Amino acid sequence: MDIKKQFIDGKWVVSESNKTRDIINPFNKEIIARVTESDEDDAKLAIAAARKAFDHGSWPTTPATERGQIVNKIADLIERDKEELAELESLDTGKTVEESRGDMDDIAGVFRYYAELADKDGGEIIDSPIPNSVSKVVREPVGVCGQITPWNYPLLQASWKLAPALAAGNTLIMKPSEITPLTSIKVFELMEEAGVPAGVANLVLGAGNAVGAELSENNDVDLISFTGGIETGKKIMRAASDNVKKIALELGGKNPNVVFADADFDTALDQAMNAVFFHAGQICSAGTRLIVEDRIHDKFVNALVEKVENIKLGSGFDETTQMGPLISEEHLNKVIKYVENGVKEGVTVATGGKRPEDPKLQDGFFYLPTVLTNCESKMDVVQNEGFGPVITVEKFSNEDEAIKLANDSIYGLSGGVWTNDIAKAERCVAKMRMGTVWINEFNLYFPHAPWGGFKQSGIGRELGKAGLEEYTETKHIFHNLKPEPINWFQ
Ligand code: NAD
Repeated sequence: MDIKKQFIDGKWVVSESNKTRDIINPFNKEIIARVTESDEDDAKLAIAAARKAFDHGSWPTTPATERGQIVNKIADLIERDKEELAELESLDTGKTVEESRGDMDDIAGVFRYYAELADKDGGEIIDSPIPNSVSKVVREPVGVCGQITPWNYPLLQASWKLAPALAAGNTLIMKPSEITPLTSIKVFELMEEAGVPAGVANLVLGAGNAVGAELSENNDVDLISFTGGIETGKKIMRAASDNVKKIALELGGKNPNVVFADADFDTALDQAMNAVFFHAGQICSAGTRLIVEDRIHDKFVNALVEKVENIKLGSGFDETTQMGPLISEEHLNKVIKYVENGVKEGVTVATGGKRPEDPKLQDGFFYLPTVLTNCESKMDVVQNEGFGPVITVEKFSNEDEAIKLANDSIYGLSGGVWTNDIAKAERCVAKMRMGTVWINEFNLYFPHAPWGGFKQSGIGRELGKAGLEEYTETKHIFHNLKPEPINWFQ
């Protein structure tokens, strides 16, 4: 089997250690690829290449329009190779190819959005209090950026970091999740083809505690952008403090989905399912905490259970499959334990709560879509991110209680409200402490809208104009057109 390589200073190379890692298909545990396993030494080489390209190369000062053209070309190439990328993503993550195709469209859209935005901020002349002077505020690239991504949306999360960093003129080192590096490797090939200069974008592969830790603590890295779990986020924050790196953290979520009795029942039901069972619940913004008004609670739960029991599990390459496996055995075991703990806390398993019995699914990391009822806000199962196909259901009797339950979390990534009373919806979302709130919608995002968390869901924003600003420093240039002595020290 060919060894897939890392990309450092414009060259595809194996790691200094010569170690490799096998990449596993979560549907059947087959080895689908073998990749070089980078370590701290490789990360150091990649950082040095990015440093050299930033300090001595032309990318940071290349006209933004020109950088935008290259970023746009990357979008063209992603569209050209969409099918190959989608299949690779599904092979690596287990998600359906249909979902992966949608991801690839979104990814191309992200590159296009930042390509267009690249030259839109030409700086701003501000009012100066000094006569005969010009005061200008400009944005410049931050420098060398370390970028670390998770396994649930491998290329999508990568695109949210790569596109704005390149558009703004930074150089970078990306480390994808060691479980799902394949589409990131492919996109680095496309970036090379699109004309990104050597050293500007570097790719290292390997474990978080080696390569990721080096990117987080190395003093030649100016910014670290991380998407992943909260505990890793805290480690990165500590490691980044030594040279006061800029940090951008996109962490977990335990997202409330509040359904009032006056909502459109069928739509709210359908979307409550999508909110959590899409990609087997392995979505940071999944609506895992369903909070239903007591008047419709039993009817809603019964209808939900009936629908959930019809979800078809299988291979992502089977067009009839609606839900694939979990990403790994380790993660499957975490989800099993998470539900077991819930049962110990007193929840009722309304459906699921175990692995499927279908013999065809025994080789994959499958877990049945699960509905847990009789849940209370204080329970761990309601507070902790399970990151699997599991929904907890709570009841409320009035608006204040609904908001209180929705906000009762250390996280604040996203949340939704379902009601036909517009005033009530507006009152609720105004009080919900989350980076994205939806009214009569769930899990929708697009490149123009900023994405990120309140509270412990993170620091900073990706997507939107804010996502580009993360990759810039603000500089004030003051030009005295008629300098004169001040004569303070006579
Ligand atoms: P994870 O934290 O285990 O790993 C994420 C990345 O960090 C991987 O590349 C990993 O190798 C690396 N890493 C691990 N230890 C490290 C260390 N000590 N230093 C530096 N890097 C290290 O997360 P995961 O299991 O891959 O992803 C799931 C998590 O990601 C969930 O909590 C989910 O909510 C979160 N997530 C958040 C968003 C968002 O937009 N907020 C999006 C997707 C996923």
